Amino acid sequence: MSARTAFDLIFRNARTRSSASPVDIGISGGRIAAIAPRLACEAAEIDIAGKLALPGFVDTHIHLDKACLLGRCGRDHATVSEAIAAVAAMKREFTVEDIYARGARVIERAVLHGTTRMRTHIEIDPRIGLRGFEAVKALKRDYAWAIDLSLCVFPQEGLTNDPGTEELLVEALQNGGEAVGGCPYMDTNPNAHIERLFDLAQRFDVDVDFHLDFDLDPSWTHMDEVCRQTERRNYHGRVAIGHASKLSAMPPEQLKAATARLAKAGVAVTVLPATDLYLMGRDATHNSPRGLTVAHRLVENGVLCSVATNNVLNPFTPFGDASLLRMANLYANAAHAGISEFDACLDLVTDLPARLMNLRDYGIAVGNPADLIVLDTDSGRNAIAEMPDVLMGFKNGRQVFERQRPTLFPPQA
Ligand SMILES: [Zn+2]
Repeated sequence: MSARTAFDLIFRNARTRSSASPVDIGISGGRIAAIAPRLACEAAEIDIAGKLALPGFVDTHIHLDKACLLGRCGRDHATVSEAIAAVAAMKREFTVEDIYARGARVIERAVLHGTTRMRTHIEIDPRIGLRGFEAVKALKRDYAWAIDLSLCVFPQEGLTNDPGTEELLVEALQNGGEAVGGCPYMDTNPNAHIERLFDLAQRFDVDVDFHLDFDLDPSWTHMDEVCRQTERRNYHGRVAIGHASKLSAMPPEQLKAATARLAKAGVAVTVLPATDLYLMGRDATHNSPRGLTVAHRLVENGVLCSVATNNVLNPFTPFGDASLLRMANLYANAAHAGISEFDACLDLVTDLPARLMNLRDYGIAVGNPADLIVLDTDSGRNAIAEMPDVLMGFKNGRQVFERQRPTLFPPQA
């Protein structure tokens, strides 16, 4: 490497998942310009000291518009339908400013935990109107320095049974909506719900991301209809289904067939461990089912999968810090992942969700935006096992945050 090569910044001694030994990463104009051992150049330097650098976590499924509602809940909501009803009642009072403030709180936590890309679902219906959409659009603009936010608009309370919703979805898609979601289990006509959302997706040339199902009854599923529509419209690689908790309840032969169906249609699956573990199996008196679809096994069989946050501090999930590393650790633990599978679990919050969202410029590679986070560990496996601190983060080559390592003060001898 010539000493004349100009970089704005060089990361020294960064360990990446694709390099056996530490490398230097040169940044120029906000992009990764070179990756090599010992880059020779006069530039500002940050010594990573052999720690693990990742291109940031990718959250494919979060709900910024209904986060941080615990203070408004009078009681526990033990089922999916109770949680939906509780939020439906609360959201009539949501204002743009209120949604913005709660969303900002979650975005800032996500950024501080290393998330650099995120797809948020936004509820659209005649009660909330476009207030959630307007608030999240403002968040996307105001936090672009830290995170790429993608807006997925969806009818949480149904489509064919909720007059006026489709017109609002169209308005949102005409004004910055980047993907369309659905919730067929909430509609009186699930197949028509799926069909109309695919129609909208094609009309606006956007990807589709369904909340597919949310129960443990494997005797029926809307999955086949989603796969059928995906194939009919040649939408392979542009469709995801979230939760898909029914897959966790299928016996092996049925799961094998369902997996093959998803792989053939090119339909991806997003598993949402915090919500699935909280809401599924609550009626069991003992030996509670986990309700968690084992994503890394689906990946082994050709299905693109991600693990994501879903809800933060609301009736669906009264937990949350928007940390995808914590989510991957929770997933690995609950899904009985072995140590040799920990790297595959890290893939579920990094490379695979980037593919699910069809992000073409993600990854530590020359030419990509210099999005980089540094973890206080030396390998992907240890990241899942230990949940190390995320020490610093950069977006487009600019530092976004830093976290000091804690200091112990033992008594003086
Ligand atoms: Zn969701």
